[in-house]
Amino acid sequence: MPITAEFIETFRVVCPACKGKVELKGDASGIKCTQCRRIYPIRNDIPVLIVEEATVEGEKPGKTD
Ligand SMILES: [Zn+2]
Repeated sequence: MPITAEFIETFRVVCPACKGKVELKGDASGIKCTQCRRIYPIRNDIPVLIVEEATVEGEKPGKTD
């Protein structure tokens, strides 16, 4: 099942870093925290809500995939 905004609401997904509200990115490529602006990746339709895996919007990624 692809991740949707309903998924985030149903499971009350919050940012694991700051417990802030998260929202699905427009292209559904990740889940973005509206407070700290971390973006958590979605891999195989599973949101990876791990602080170490998140990137921060506006920062250069530390590694190239
Ligand atoms: Zn956050």
